Amino acid sequence: MKIHNFNAGPASLPDVVLKEAANAVINFDNSGLSILEIAHRSPEFKAVLAEAKDLTLDILGLKDKGYQVLFLQGGARMEFLRIPVNLMRVNGKAAFLDTGIWSSGAMKEAESFGLCIEVASSKDRKYCYLPKEYSIPEDADYFYCTSNNTISGTQITHFPETEVSIVCDMTSDIFSRNMDFSRFDLIFAAAQKNIGIAGVTLLVIKESILGKTNRNIASILDFQEHIKADNMYNTPPVFAIYTAMLTLRWIKAEGGIAIIEKRNQEKARLLYAEIDRNELFEGTADRLDRSKMNATFILKDESHKKAFDQFLKERGIYGLEGHRFVGGYRASLYNAVTSKSVNFLVSVLQEFEKQNIN
Ligand SMILES: *Cc1c(COP(=O)(O)O)cnc(C)c1O
Repeated sequence: MKIHNFNAGPASLPDVVLKEAANAVINFDNSGLSILEIAHRSPEFKAVLAEAKDLTLDILGLKDKGYQVLFLQGGARMEFLRIPVNLMRVNGKAAFLDTGIWSSGAMKEAESFGLCIEVASSKDRKYCYLPKEYSIPEDADYFYCTSNNTISGTQITHFPETEVSIVCDMTSDIFSRNMDFSRFDLIFAAAQKNIGIAGVTLLVIKESILGKTNRNIASILDFQEHIKADNMYNTPPVFAIYTAMLTLRWIKAEGGIAIIEKRNQEKARLLYAEIDRNELFEGTADRLDRSKMNATFILKDESHKKAFDQFLKERGIYGLEGHRFVGGYRASLYNAVTSKSVNFLVSVLQEFEKQNIN
């Protein structure tokens, strides 16, 4: 039985990426060695890292615009800490838009380093919408936001016009849609949602924003140290970076973000249309703010839950349960999830409705 993977992360990867990664585990680039055992300072791996960085800037349209790319360990949560350490001046302040558990987690981490101002929050309605009216203090060291809220299923489409540096956690929607990425001074994304496997985080940093804090920064936390060491301050996660590079190659070969974005729009349209039509289900995020990456919904009548879960399992639908904090269901529609899988999920929801409504 084909399994259709809608898990929120670690998540679906393109077939070609899985095949190439599997081959490289046995024989990397016909070297007779496994990608798992080559030296991180070997010319072969340096070429992989260089290609991954080049593709990142190329795909985001950020080449020759003063950005540095890093692939670091510790997941997105490590960046919740590393970002204030590197960007918040001593006695400085940062502004946060609280749109979910990830942004509030990032703010909590930053509070150890300076004043954190919450410019707006959607916590009052369990993060099912995005605050629209807010202002950013002009003297903030940076403004922090989460582009896609993986848990509640909302996604920012309008970023604020501001002179303040914008820092954005794009973990769950990077490379899924086009925008002017040069509006951001720091973009980061843990790999396990839309880039590759767990174990590495992509950072794209405008170099001119670094070195202004007046703080002594421990080397392992210091972006400038990592840049100076060419991403080799400590041993980088070789296989995770290799897999990320393969995914970036795949995005480029598919035709870049514009093509991927079109597919993502169609996938989301199909699924939300079914959630809205089907009498058994309802979406949980406000329509205007719905995410094209994570569609969250619930059964109107919870008594169907056991039967529905079994129904999904029998049809090879994997990873549809909602985040443990919110329950319900969530279909993650990342780049590697095919329209075929989404069409299949839609047909499964229709079949379940037929069986349960007379
Ligand atoms: C998954 C996720 C995280 C957490 O990532 P870790 O690598 O587990 O720390 C943070 N932010 C967003 C938007 C996420 O989707």
